[in-house]
Amino acid sequence: MSDLFHFLNGLKGKRILGINPPVFDFAYFDLWAKPIGLLYLLQWMRDLGNEVQFLDCIYEARDKAKSFGRYQPRRTLIEKPEAYWGIPRRYYHFGLEEEEFLSRLLAMEEPDLVLITSIMTYWYGGVHWAISRVRKIFPDVPVVLGGIYARLCPGHAISSGADMIQTEYLPVQAPYPAMDLYENGEYGILETSWGCPMGCDYCASKILCPSFSQRSIEEVALEMDFQLKVPSIRDMAFYDDALLMNREFHFYRICDLIQERYSHIRFHTPNGLHVSQIDRKCAKYLFNTGLRTIRLSLESVDRTVQGQSSMKVSRLQFERALENLVSAGYGQEDLETYVLIGLPEQDIDGVRKTIRFVKSLGGTVKTAQFSPIPGTSSYRKALENVPALKEEPLLHNNSVYCSYISGELEPAELQELKDLARA
Ligand code: SF4
Repeated sequence: MSDLFHFLNGLKGKRILGINPPVFDFAYFDLWAKPIGLLYLLQWMRDLGNEVQFLDCIYEARDKAKSFGRYQPRRTLIEKPEAYWGIPRRYYHFGLEEEEFLSRLLAMEEPDLVLITSIMTYWYGGVHWAISRVRKIFPDVPVVLGGIYARLCPGHAISSGADMIQTEYLPVQAPYPAMDLYENGEYGILETSWGCPMGCDYCASKILCPSFSQRSIEEVALEMDFQLKVPSIRDMAFYDDALLMNREFHFYRICDLIQERYSHIRFHTPNGLHVSQIDRKCAKYLFNTGLRTIRLSLESVDRTVQGQSSMKVSRLQFERALENLVSAGYGQEDLETYVLIGLPEQDIDGVRKTIRFVKSLGGTVKTAQFSPIPGTSSYRKALENVPALKEEPLLHNNSVYCSYISGELEPAELQELKDLARA
């Protein structure tokens, strides 16, 4: 176990503040995104006998309501960092702004420890911003930085100003995330398994969670019971990377539980489902259990990209899965298929073919632009072309990487692919 684990495990009787920082980016959409790792950690801290406070800069700035409990946070136009000069797009601060953030901190009792999370590597601007403001208000309070950016870019995260950085997997010991820290939260989150048994070249799942494991149905039930005590929650999102693995013993039993106890809740799978697992029975389970938003991982019909994607689904399996889902009761508009764009040396014709293939079956395409994630083999390949990726996590940003940073595509080509997907 790491030093950080022992340090946290020894805390008792302390006041601990958890912070989900604002996001600096060109765009931000709430895909049922909550800082799940931090929320588990805060629950663990509570179970150890500490008092916890929580400040979610995205949630606290919620503005326009979207479907199924989601919100778009407020945004302010900010200056682009140097790495993005020359990119003709606006850049924003999403979430609580300076004055609001500082006044929330000032209104709190001084904590003994601050835990700050981080998500995308290229969102570090918001993380560093939050740490510097915390330092201003609580100069003597130690700050621990955890989350994905800290894990994947520990060398860069040192410049954040945090006192400790989470560099390794932290086996957090809590039965559920502390979702009750959101006052009147609109949706819950559920992770019934950790990691993924596959190993796609571009994915960080294996780095962040080296082994795949599924939780017991009793644990899942406990987690749902806890979150659904919040009466305003009407939606719940699965965070699993491999929800349908061993489906007879895992997912179907969770569906039975949901149908028995939680049929009033709508469920969503923002992470793509493994299409090869969706036979008729599985499609019926998904529909009858009330899974409303279904995302399917196809990625590509191009053999080279399929090889980089663990050969997880063939054309025929995809075709059958779509048929099964439609026969179970889904409309095509409920079923979005991920198509990957902008991998190193990816053939643009392969992308066009994939989009046309999905559309020929009546499917809805959701394009996903490649982000070079440190530690993956696709990142190593991308480094050959863009060595600066090593020093500057802003360059990992998927919304501009393939069209402005790697030069894999011209901006006009990317637009053409997006238009084709929308047509
Ligand atoms: S199947 Fe999905 S979660 Fe698993 S390694 Fe591939 S991309 Fe990652």
